[in-house]
Amino acid sequence: MTATAPTGHGTTKPERAVRQLHHDAGDRPMITIWEVTRACQLVCKHCRADAQHTGHPLQLTTDEGKALLDDIAAFGRPFPIVILTGGDPFERPDLAELVGYGHGLGLHMAVSPSVTPKVTPERLAEIHAAGANALSLSLDGASAATHDAWRGVEGVYERTIAAARAAVAEGLRVQVNSTVTQGNVRELPAILRTVMDLKATMWSVFFLVPTGRGENLLPLVPADNEDVMHWLHDVSTLLAIKTTEAPHFRRVAIQRARALQESPEALAALQAQRGTLYRELTAATADLLTGQETTRRKPRPPIDINSGRGFAFIDHLGDVYPSGFLPHHCGNVKEHGFRAIYRGDPLLQSLRRPNEFHGKCGVCEFNEVCGGSRSHAYAVTGDILASDPTCAYTPPALALPHQRPTHTAH
Ligand code: SF4
Repeated sequence: MTATAPTGHGTTKPERAVRQLHHDAGDRPMITIWEVTRACQLVCKHCRADAQHTGHPLQLTTDEGKALLDDIAAFGRPFPIVILTGGDPFERPDLAELVGYGHGLGLHMAVSPSVTPKVTPERLAEIHAAGANALSLSLDGASAATHDAWRGVEGVYERTIAAARAAVAEGLRVQVNSTVTQGNVRELPAILRTVMDLKATMWSVFFLVPTGRGENLLPLVPADNEDVMHWLHDVSTLLAIKTTEAPHFRRVAIQRARALQESPEALAALQAQRGTLYRELTAATADLLTGQETTRRKPRPPIDINSGRGFAFIDHLGDVYPSGFLPHHCGNVKEHGFRAIYRGDPLLQSLRRPNEFHGKCGVCEFNEVCGGSRSHAYAVTGDILASDPTCAYTPPALALPHQRPTHTAH
C-alpha cells in the first residue's frame, strides 16, 4: 500500500502497550551485554568505551569468558540474551569460539561489531555458523558525510551499508543502532528510510548520554525528546523500534494507547500538543515515503526493562555495571560471579525500587514501567536515583492545576 502521513494504527489495549517480562527482573536479566574488548580501529565521537587500538592486557581471557557464559546460562530458562560488544568484538580472534560456546549452552548470542575491514562475509558466516543469530550495526547519519564524520574514518558509511546487506544475505537478523543528538536529529526520517531499505528487523534509537567521548556532543532537550518519541511511535507502524536510554518511550506508548482507546480525536489532540520538531519529522517522513510501497502494522510494544532491572553490562575486565553508560561499579565477575552480583548488589537492587527514586520519577505514576534513564540522571546530576532530566513529563502529583491531564495519563 502507499504510505500516508503516519498516525495511530489499530488499537492497542493500554495494558498491552508495553511488554512485561514473564519472570522476576530481579532474579535474572533479559539482556546481558558483554564488552569482550575495548580494542577498536575507529575513533567515534560518541564512544562510551573511549575505545583504544589494542585490547587491555587484563581483558577477560577465553577461559574466563567461557566461565562467564556458564554463569549466565546457570540463570536458567528463559536464558538471557547475550550481546557481545566492544570496542570491536571482531578484534578478538576467539570471537567465534565464544559465540559457539554460548550457543552450545542454549544462550541467544548476538554480536555488535564496529564496521571495519574485519567485517567480511566470511567472518559473518563464521559467527553465524557458530550460533550467532543477530548482528547490530551503528548508523548515525543519513549520508557518508554525516556518518563518517562521527566515526572518524572515511568510508565507514559505505562499509556499514555493505555489511548490513551481507548480514541479511547471510541470514542474520540485523538491528541498526542510531545515536540521536541535536546535530543529527533532522536526519532521522532519512535514516529510517535507509534502515527499512536494508531490511533490518529492528531500529534502536539511542538518546545520547553525555559520558565518555559523548560529553562533547549535545543531547536533545526534553521537549525535543518528547517530539522524537512521539514520531518514533508513529513510525513504529513501519518497523520494529526500540529506544535506548529513553525508557519514557514506554510512557508515551501507554499515553497514546489510552488516548486511542478513548477516541481517534483524543490521540490527534495528544499529537497536536507536539512541537515544531515533531511536525518537521512527520512532514519529512511523509515526503520520503510518498509513492513508496509500505506495509503498516501494529506498533511492536516496547519491553519493560531498565538499567539493573532486566538489563546489565559487563565490561572487558569483568566489572559489572547497571548499563554501559552508568559508570557505577557493582563488582567483578571473577571475584563474585555475575549471578550473585546481579541478584545481590545493593545498587542494582535499589534500581528495582522506582518508588524510592528522587524527584518526579519517584512520584510519577509511570515509574514502574519507565523509571527514567538512570544513566542520564547520573551523568547530569551525579545522583543515580535522581529524576531523569531528559523527560518532559510532569506527573500529576507535581503538576499545577492547569497542567493536569484530562484524559491520557492516569
Ligand atoms: S517522570 Fe520519570 S518515571 Fe515518569 S515518565 Fe518521566 S522519566 Fe519516566
